[in-house]
Amino acid sequence: MNEQFLIRDDQPMPPAGEVVTTSSRRERSYSIHVTADEDSALQTLTDAIGGRQVSVVTDHIVDNLHAARIAAALTSRGVPVRSMAVPAGEQSKSLQMACRLLDWLARSDAGRRDVLLAIGGGVVIDTAGWVASAYMRGIPYINVPTTLLAQVDAAIGGKVAVDHWIAKNLIGSFYEPEAVVSCVGYLATLDARQVRAGLAEVIKKAIIASPPLFSFIERHLGPLLALDPAALRSLVHAASSIKCVLVARDPYETDLRRTLNFGHTVGHAVETATGHGPVLHGEAVACGMAVATRIACARGLLGGQTAARIVGLLGAAGLPLSLSELALEPPAGDVIAALAKIRQVRAGSLRFVLPTELGSALIADDVTEDEICAALYDRAMTAVAGGPGQFSTVAGGPGQFSTVAGGPGQFSTVAGGPGQFSGVRA
Ligand code: NAD
Repeated sequence: MNEQFLIRDDQPMPPAGEVVTTSSRRERSYSIHVTADEDSALQTLTDAIGGRQVSVVTDHIVDNLHAARIAAALTSRGVPVRSMAVPAGEQSKSLQMACRLLDWLARSDAGRRDVLLAIGGGVVIDTAGWVASAYMRGIPYINVPTTLLAQVDAAIGGKVAVDHWIAKNLIGSFYEPEAVVSCVGYLATLDARQVRAGLAEVIKKAIIASPPLFSFIERHLGPLLALDPAALRSLVHAASSIKCVLVARDPYETDLRRTLNFGHTVGHAVETATGHGPVLHGEAVACGMAVATRIACARGLLGGQTAARIVGLLGAAGLPLSLSELALEPPAGDVIAALAKIRQVRAGSLRFVLPTELGSALIADDVTEDEICAALYDRAMTAVAGGPGQFSTVAGGPGQFSTVAGGPGQFSTVAGGPGQFSGVRA
């Protein structure tokens, strides 16, 4: 069907000499669909694509497991699809790989309104998102995250980037997807270690922002680690919703979103000291969260019982709580040296997010090297942890969890869902 648009405009002449100001940020909302059923995911995806051409970006592993099947299903529904798979792993999150993807798009007949579809983990999503932000000054992209970390974190919030050899995520921008379709069924093929690393990110969000989510994970840890679809769906739905609320409050990471860095100060130092690779990001962050919890407890900011719950849940989820439990144990001196480097880059201040209770955290920049050293190995609080799935706590009744979102499996990112929030500068 041919359509014609007539656009009228009648802007006034501004008074001479008046300062011209502009707002360059466009406000947009997008939906995150969470489901356990692939057919429903494909239908949602087809609807979101809405008759446009699709350029799928994935990695070789995900292509074999899921993306080729998704592409074939879209084709059978009449969607024109072209695909490109990159090698799996962080090394693909590079400017060189982004250029190869841009070349591929430029040689195709993909237009400005056609869609880039990122199917994969955080590496594919970050890289494809950045390519989408740059190609033709920005084309629409849709995320189909296939790792737990990507479903609860990387696919949401619009932080897109590739790595530079000097630092991770150095070349990037804020560019939000048009939609996110998370099917927890895709997690069935994921390595158990990757599942635990993704769970670390959800536990982090629960500690800083949602006591009910924390209790939910405590009560359902066994089913979650066994990849029970219903438990995973509730988890991804709740974590996505909470991330949306946090991002909407502070879309460009100026202040309030900083609690999302809980566990990251020591986590980044651990990743640096172990050479980015042997220790997964979620594992490093889990260790960082345990360290920050011990520091908060030692300072009297956090009660012993809550500290024990936090460290206990991380331990029960099979996550490392100290340097000696990491897949590769870095010498404490290397971690301290990496922290000193971070301090130098941040003009002398090392920022720690310290929990003060579930759902509340203090951002402190006066944590000393002695406090960090004492907390790197202290395992005293881990004694309360049981094995995976055997963890129980004093919190909430069973099965009473509900998320803050709207209709089942769907919500949109237009800010400030229900829930209480206050921010006070200490
Ligand atoms: P990843 O993308 O490297 O995926 C991990 C591995 O799992 C890969 O080998 C991949 O091929 C494989 N895989 C993916 N889905 C699978 C599935 N369903 N079954 C089996 N294997 C599967 O790593 P990740 O942990 O998903 O993401 C890490 C990246 O995400 C990092 O680069 C990090 O910087 C980024 N990240 C970005 C944000 C953000 O806000 N943009 C947030 C957190 C992390």
